[in-house]
Amino acid sequence: MRKAFISPSKYVQGEDELFNLGYFIKTFGESALLIAHPDDVQRVKQKLEYTMEKYGVALIESGFNGECSRQEVKRLQQLAIEHNCSCTIGLGGGKAIDTAKCVAEGDALIIVPTIAATDAPTSHSAVLYSPEGEFDDYAYFKQSPSVVMIDTTVIANAPTRFLVAGMGDALSTYFEARATANSYSNVNAGLPCGANGGVGKPAKGTKAALALAKLCYETLLEDGAKAKISCDANLVTPALENIIETNILLSGLGFESGGLAAAHAIHNGLTSLEGTHSYYHGEKVAFTTLVQLVLENASTAEINEVLQFCVSVGLPVCLADIGVTSVTNDELRNVAQKACIPEESIHSMPFPVNEEMVVAAIRVADHIGQQYKQKGE
Ligand SMILES: [Zn+2]
Repeated sequence: MRKAFISPSKYVQGEDELFNLGYFIKTFGESALLIAHPDDVQRVKQKLEYTMEKYGVALIESGFNGECSRQEVKRLQQLAIEHNCSCTIGLGGGKAIDTAKCVAEGDALIIVPTIAATDAPTSHSAVLYSPEGEFDDYAYFKQSPSVVMIDTTVIANAPTRFLVAGMGDALSTYFEARATANSYSNVNAGLPCGANGGVGKPAKGTKAALALAKLCYETLLEDGAKAKISCDANLVTPALENIIETNILLSGLGFESGGLAAAHAIHNGLTSLEGTHSYYHGEKVAFTTLVQLVLENASTAEINEVLQFCVSVGLPVCLADIGVTSVTNDELRNVAQKACIPEESIHSMPFPVNEEMVVAAIRVADHIGQQYKQKGE
């Protein structure tokens, strides 16, 4: 059986870690193209100036336009050539990080997340959009980022809602990896550089990835609520450090090498409901994790454990919590249709899934979540 595992070459996190950015730039050369939103640059400006001075490196600011589109990637690649940049830095949230991955094409890339809202920073894939912000395509690169660097002080000072959303994204990791393993489905780690039309060779997940996914879930249960309180107080504690590692490293390796299943596919379907648009990816994934558990008839004890965790950190457990106060059967059917298209990860569940099953699981998960909340009040 062919198996694959992929990860960044280096992962480093610590208080004021940004002071060391110049050291990592220096391992590639003298200058780096900086892809970041101006607000994010502003937040860490002093640290950037310090590290450039200390290590004698230059950061070329790129005037990133905020959208990860083919046009913007091309412009930035041109800029990197003009300035003779020896590496690319993606600093900030999802769009800056994805754009940096596309610009670097798997070479000499430093990723610096300033929020811990998703598990995307460690992966070797990115999502391309049109300049107008519509989905274009997925891109896979030959390598994961060279360095993923996290300044925990910066994360502690970002709004707590991002950290909690990251916990929602991390919550699905174990259950999706478990389903993928049980069905012997393929994982993304097996995909080579599809951006250049590379042919994907299927590969299954490793025991290592499943173990990381399990640790991801266990750490959420142990440290999630404590980390939320730390972030509310803008303070770095061991619990917050553990959750940053969980949201970014454990969840990132767990999803990419362990596999996605129903939770992310149903999340993708749910984005067709207008009400969900003001909610973050991870917030929706928390609810769709519950939907997956209903779909696979997980034990009552496991469902209750997940519900208890979500409520303890303020993650959504019902449709109203993600902005959907009423929904027709036709609308839910549309959600299920999107979740069940042939390319979707829902087919990594260990049994055949159809649209009726998805509609039923969403409705029942919604009821279970509502009831759980009422009991607690
Ligand atoms: Zn996700």
